[in-house]
Amino acid sequence: MQFVVASLFVFAVFQEVTHGEEFGYDGNIGPMYWGERYRECAGKHQSPININVLRVKQVTLPELVLVGFDDSIDNVHVTNNGHTVLIEVKNEPHPRVRGGPLDSDYIFSQMHFHWGDNDTFGSEDKINHRSFPMELHMVFYKEEYKSPTEAVKHSDGLTVLAFFYELDRHQHPAYDDITLALQNVTEPHTSVVMSHPFSFLNILPYDLKRYFTYRGSLTTPPCSEVVIWLDFEQPIRLTHEQIEAFREIRSAHGKITHNFRPIQPIGDRVVFYNIDNNYYVYNEIEDHEDTTTVRPSRRKKGRSSGTSLVPSTLSALSVIYALSINL
Ligand SMILES: [Zn+2]
Repeated sequence: MQFVVASLFVFAVFQEVTHGEEFGYDGNIGPMYWGERYRECAGKHQSPININVLRVKQVTLPELVLVGFDDSIDNVHVTNNGHTVLIEVKNEPHPRVRGGPLDSDYIFSQMHFHWGDNDTFGSEDKINHRSFPMELHMVFYKEEYKSPTEAVKHSDGLTVLAFFYELDRHQHPAYDDITLALQNVTEPHTSVVMSHPFSFLNILPYDLKRYFTYRGSLTTPPCSEVVIWLDFEQPIRLTHEQIEAFREIRSAHGKITHNFRPIQPIGDRVVFYNIDNNYYVYNEIEDHEDTTTVRPSRRKKGRSSGTSLVPSTLSALSVIYALSINL
């Protein structure tokens, strides 16, 4: 219902890896109509999806290796492309990622954000049908394909590291430079260089070991089904004002108040939930019953929330939801 109301006022156009084609999030160029012009948008392995935490398959994948994430990077460009805010690295070598579900190296292409009209929605993927106010997509292309343009022609061409945001009372200092840059790129097709060196790790959550992973698509036309998604469980915490700064970004048609695609059918896909094997082994498991059941009353007795991983996920998420309801 909120989408419908918003659609009366907003005409937001957004592009991701591809360029040039016009489509939007409202009206007759909205997501409902993408499939008419872009066949793959009507495919069976589309993104985003809802992740049902009780249906994920727990796995322990090889360690995810993030190369160059703690480098201090100069000459980082922040661009309003009329559809979202892009952060791009100009200097070589670009950060890269390997390990986890990936069978080789993926090179950083760009990162961008998806947000909603207010703090109750805006993320693309959902967890147990809950939305987060914003989502970060770090897009990487498989090294052997040489470029993002070539990579989108291959089913394993891209990987996106996705991070959710949630509200906090305290400002996240690493986002100060980004919000400052946003103020200088409110108009479409404007770009600034960040005032200070930029480190990927600084803007990410602490826990990078727990994530959901599944095969999906670009969330914008042409919706190519070429993405290995990694959705990290721990959200990044920003203040309302820090998230609000993104809603000041304008397209040619006014403020971009939302730029997320609705969830798509999961179909026959399985979502894997990667846990840290060491963490799992060293925590005592006392409950051999149905570990997929949440028992808040037992946790109150002082059991470590790490003893059973899926319930602990639910516990953490229920805290997030409680916060979002209060706010
Ligand atoms: Zn995206």
